[in-house]
Amino acid sequence: MNKNYLIAGNWKMYKNAEQSREFIQDLERSFTSVAAMTVVVFPPFVALAGLRALSKKINIGAQNMFYEEQGAFTGEISPLMLQGLVDYVLIGHSERREIFKERDEDVNRKIKAALQFNLVPVVCIGETLQEREAGKTMVKIKNQLEKALQGVDKEKMGRIIVAYEPIWAIGTGLNASPEQAQEVHHFIKEIWQEMGAERNLQILYGGSVKPENSFELLAQDDISGVLVGGASLKVEQFSAIIHSCIQLLDK
Ligand code: PEP
Repeated sequence: MNKNYLIAGNWKMYKNAEQSREFIQDLERSFTSVAAMTVVVFPPFVALAGLRALSKKINIGAQNMFYEEQGAFTGEISPLMLQGLVDYVLIGHSERREIFKERDEDVNRKIKAALQFNLVPVVCIGETLQEREAGKTMVKIKNQLEKALQGVDKEKMGRIIVAYEPIWAIGTGLNASPEQAQEVHHFIKEIWQEMGAERNLQILYGGSVKPENSFELLAQDDISGVLVGGASLKVEQFSAIIHSCIQLLDK
């Protein structure tokens, strides 16, 4: 198996600075590093300081950022501020799009800013239940990808990671079946190639990933990682997902 996996945990608005430090230390003790697997956690902003220095096996990411470098933008965090604290940044998570009304244009500007400041953007896309039931999943995915990547240099596209997160599967306990996820991941890879990207794309699946389903999801040809919400908040569960990846790589 010559895939590189990324196991990512989105903590959303959970865990303060102290709880985040404790979690990182406990998680570090729970697994051994494997060359073909990268582990990243996305803690809240207030917990980011010092976490990178604390962790040897775990990478740190931010859950969001603004696209401007600095200025009168009360409450926002800039890519410049994130430099040195994180290596990854989530962009366009469905909760940001739905609750905070982020538009595709914002996602596009954020991706460009992340690339400019050498942060790895993990760009989230996905369809609603209504869109899936109406047979519009692929149209939505193509549209989101094209708008997100408008004007992004082809050579920089290789630094982007995409997370396919069907909205109906986030926090609902309903996950896409491995086959449903694989079908969309394959489609994303095709679009990516049509867009002229030079490097193979890493695509994460997200939506009610748990220790019980992670192995089967990760075993799909075009799934090269998972973005985990709820189950990334408990060391035992997140560690079990990491171990399912290690088990797969050992096969
Ligand atoms: C997420 O927040 O990106 C997510 C996939 O959440 P959950 O795993 O809880 O569905």
